[in-house]
Amino acid sequence: MPGYEMFGDEEKKEVQDVLDTGILLRYGFEAQRKNIWKSKQLEVAIAERLSVRYAQLTSSGTTALTTALASLGVGYGDEVLVPTFTFVATVESILSVGAIPVFVDIDDSMTMNPVAAEQAITAQTKCIVPVHMCGAMADIEKLLALATRKKILLLEDACQSMAASYKGKPLGSFGDAGVFSFDFVKTMTCGEGGVVVTNNEDIYKKCHGYSDHGHDHLGVDRGADQHHFIGNNFRISELHAAVGLAQIRKIDTFLLIQRKNYEILYNYMQTIPQLQFRKIYDSAGNSCTFLGCIFPTKTITEKVVEKMKLENIFAGGFHYYNNNWHYLKKWEHFKKAHSLYPLNTLQVASLQKIENRNFSISDDLMARTVFFAISLVWKEEEIAIRAKKMIAVIASCLS
Ligand SMILES: *Cc1c(COP(=O)(O)O)cnc(C)c1O
Repeated sequence: MPGYEMFGDEEKKEVQDVLDTGILLRYGFEAQRKNIWKSKQLEVAIAERLSVRYAQLTSSGTTALTTALASLGVGYGDEVLVPTFTFVATVESILSVGAIPVFVDIDDSMTMNPVAAEQAITAQTKCIVPVHMCGAMADIEKLLALATRKKILLLEDACQSMAASYKGKPLGSFGDAGVFSFDFVKTMTCGEGGVVVTNNEDIYKKCHGYSDHGHDHLGVDRGADQHHFIGNNFRISELHAAVGLAQIRKIDTFLLIQRKNYEILYNYMQTIPQLQFRKIYDSAGNSCTFLGCIFPTKTITEKVVEKMKLENIFAGGFHYYNNNWHYLKKWEHFKKAHSLYPLNTLQVASLQKIENRNFSISDDLMARTVFFAISLVWKEEEIAIRAKKMIAVIASCLS
């Protein structure tokens, strides 16, 4: 998962270029910047790597989601389908544009179940937001077909799945728009940063303006820019983009190492017959940031986690069922609509109904699944030692 594990001279060189000019803003200052345009260069590199026409960088994955939703025209009264298992940011961005998050069960891919998604569609549904969780794909083929058939928008939250693909096509490039995060713990990092990618020129232009106060960037200088709509400041800085530029040049190296390390760990874990694995729709496209293991029961899972923690081998393991950040069960603040800015009455009414809904399928899967992060810096011998210890713990909990 983490690009910060391979951080060094390349990043320093790119950041130094920016420091040498002192121009930290991505727009303007043509005379002083000595033709250093790290954000623009990174946008070109991202668009190229993901085979999309347009990329608009922002300050984070969260602001990229908000920018994308606003640019897609999602807002007051619109329902947006989102899976029960994601990072809180997906839901925050939907609420921040005035729309209503509608939660949808996951399946054993640990991503949005397309059948459940179809059942959740109403006349108010404007957009589906599948989340390509933990480095691998949602059922994007079925979800895209559903969105097309129902004439609703598709926005891919690919924050955790940079450079992953489905049948050779990069995740994030299927929908009306796709979003990635480059925060500190993502596959590649800018420190903080995010991007919206799209093939639609109109959506791109809106993202471009929205993320910088609605500036059209057509003026002779910033003061002469026109504002055709209300925007925000979600800009990335040149310093952050510089880090990202060094990181994206290494993304295929990251993938190669992750896939190799994943395979070794997976082969060991496969020797346990009672263990299931998260369903992967296209294993060739898995970015292999995590290995998702599904245990037979909740009790066994909790025992395994407990014992691995005791024996100091749980580092990089995530039992998201009992974590406050990624699963609906613990999101009391959403269910109680505790917001510092006033939510609209439609949002509040919908949030307060979550508690009465039945998410037993998600609950069961989440309770039994543990994700193990795949490190870029593991040595082969290390993985073997680690895997053998893990197998021993799991075996003792199964017996
Ligand atoms: C990280 C993440 C985000 C938000 O990205 P930030 O850059 O941290 O704001 C959104 N969705 C998912 C699924 C994420 O993992």
